[in-house]
Amino acid sequence: MIAAGEVIERPASVVKELMENSLDAGATNINVYVEDGGRNLIAVTDNGCGMEADDLALAFEAHATSKLSTSADLLNISTMGFRGEALASIASVAKVSIVSRCKDKIEANKLEIDCGEKESVRPCSGDTGTTIEVRNLFYKLPARRKFLKTANTEITHIVEQFTRIALARTDVGLALSHNKKELYRLNAGESVRERIAKLFNADLAGSLLELQSSERDMKLTAMIGRPDSGRANSKFQYFFLNGRFIRDKFLLHAVKEAYRGLIEPDKFPTIFMFLQMPAQNFDVNVHPTKIEVRFDNSNLVYSQVLGVVREKLLSIDIDVHASLPKTGYAPFGEQNENKQRVADAMAAFFNNNKSSGTSQRHFDFSNVARRSDSQAVAAREDFYSNPQTQSFSPAQEYLQIHDSYIVAQADDGFLIIDQHALHERIMYEELCRRLASDGSGKLQSQKLLIPETFEPTSAQLDVINNNKDLLDRLGIELEPFGPGIFAVQGFPTLLNKVRPMEFITDLLDILCDSVGKVDSERLLHKILDMAACKAAVKAGQKLSRAEIAQLLADKQTIERAARCPHGRPTVIKFGLAELEKQFKRT
Ligand code: ADP
Ligand code: MG
Repeated sequence: MIAAGEVIERPASVVKELMENSLDAGATNINVYVEDGGRNLIAVTDNGCGMEADDLALAFEAHATSKLSTSADLLNISTMGFRGEALASIASVAKVSIVSRCKDKIEANKLEIDCGEKESVRPCSGDTGTTIEVRNLFYKLPARRKFLKTANTEITHIVEQFTRIALARTDVGLALSHNKKELYRLNAGESVRERIAKLFNADLAGSLLELQSSERDMKLTAMIGRPDSGRANSKFQYFFLNGRFIRDKFLLHAVKEAYRGLIEPDKFPTIFMFLQMPAQNFDVNVHPTKIEVRFDNSNLVYSQVLGVVREKLLSIDIDVHASLPKTGYAPFGEQNENKQRVADAMAAFFNNNKSSGTSQRHFDFSNVARRSDSQAVAAREDFYSNPQTQSFSPAQEYLQIHDSYIVAQADDGFLIIDQHALHERIMYEELCRRLASDGSGKLQSQKLLIPETFEPTSAQLDVINNNKDLLDRLGIELEPFGPGIFAVQGFPTLLNKVRPMEFITDLLDILCDSVGKVDSERLLHKILDMAACKAAVKAGQKLSRAEIAQLLADKQTIERAARCPHGRPTVIKFGLAELEKQFKRT
């Protein structure tokens, strides 16, 4: 009745199984000691309930478990283990010794097993709880021993297993040592944040947002990364269900959706998520290492996770807060090297937008505060001499600089807005809104006075024919216009600033690239991203005061206005308090 599987793959699997057994035994303290990446020795000591002498011998029989009484229990599993496989498999491939003492007993019992050869159980001295030592893993199986990696690699896997348990069970004190060196000592009762600080790093832990929800039968708590802290890989994505680390594509997808548009598409948000629900509502008996589960109602789980994460992300102020340097003061004309830094930083900052795609988000403000070079002076002179900007006064509260950025006063400081990025965001939201509403779910289209013609390649012809519905939704009319020639007859009204042929070419590229990849929602969003980017005002484009005012007004109304669709920031905020500190007013 159980989904049996090979559980012992490498030392880390032994560590996982033994720690889980200790947790099931009610231990409040577990010590893990490892030598040589676990190849020589893995020893786990707990202060759990321990085992009686006769159970000790039974525990190592295949499929012997104390955690199920009837097969019906399989539908309501609340322990980490339930298949009775781990001890038997471990003892069949290593030299194992176990000492265990029950709470109400005066002495302990000991059992030794060498690759399945069992000695008899003998009384001995020992503390309450259980200690299991596993030596020379796979030593009689050279083929498998050969596949073990270096001690470094194996300990990395062990640390990962240890980490998963340590995050899930903050109520238990845990320690891990390798070759006499203590790697982690975690106290019972620490918060998840404290554990993250110790297991990863304090900066990460400090930056995480906390959220929780409780709906129907599911309780959820999570620590999530701010959108600007996306990672290049999914290493910082942890999901737990009733204290068990799990991997689940629905959960991953829900989180990805929640961050959509807030984080660059190739980045992974940091997430530590803990779900609690009645054991009858899911099945863990589907995967050999129980890392996958089957939810009875995965749609519900999906929408709840998506909902709370999204809500949290939208509720926070995701403007990037610029912090000025701690040692801001530098006398004018200090050092040449400084001037070069300033020039470089200015160039990087103001070119930021021109190189679309690669963003320069982490602009180093420490350089700007030290500006003392001619560029800064020129900027100041321009400020006073240019008639366009001369009219700037505190009452009007905004100013376009370098035809690319808008500086606007805010209640508690000022904002620097990337005009292209913000407008792109606004266009994107508007496109989504119009596609979603409007009854028809279509973008409004207008006829082109002079249809533009083009000659599609055969691949383009295919995608034109296969995506008629999509083109229709987008308000694009492509009609045959002679042998091998097509004409753009209709084009979305909202994109009236975009050159139709340029847009169609990119659109067909996207469609050709996506052939065979079926996710039509993602495809649509990709197209909308592209459309928004093209329709938005560009960097280097002079805007009228009315246009700026419109942009700022739209900013207020557009959800998530602080990120453009590519996840780059649209706004950087400077606080008044920060300025006052810099000018030594406080
Ligand atoms: P499972 O955990 O699936 O029951 P195992 O092979 O891991 O199977 O363990 C077999 C049995 O040995 C458990 O059901 C439990 O009764 C007992 N056991 C194992 N480890 C411990 C421990 N550290 N403390 C007390 N009992 C233990
Ligand atoms: Mg077990």
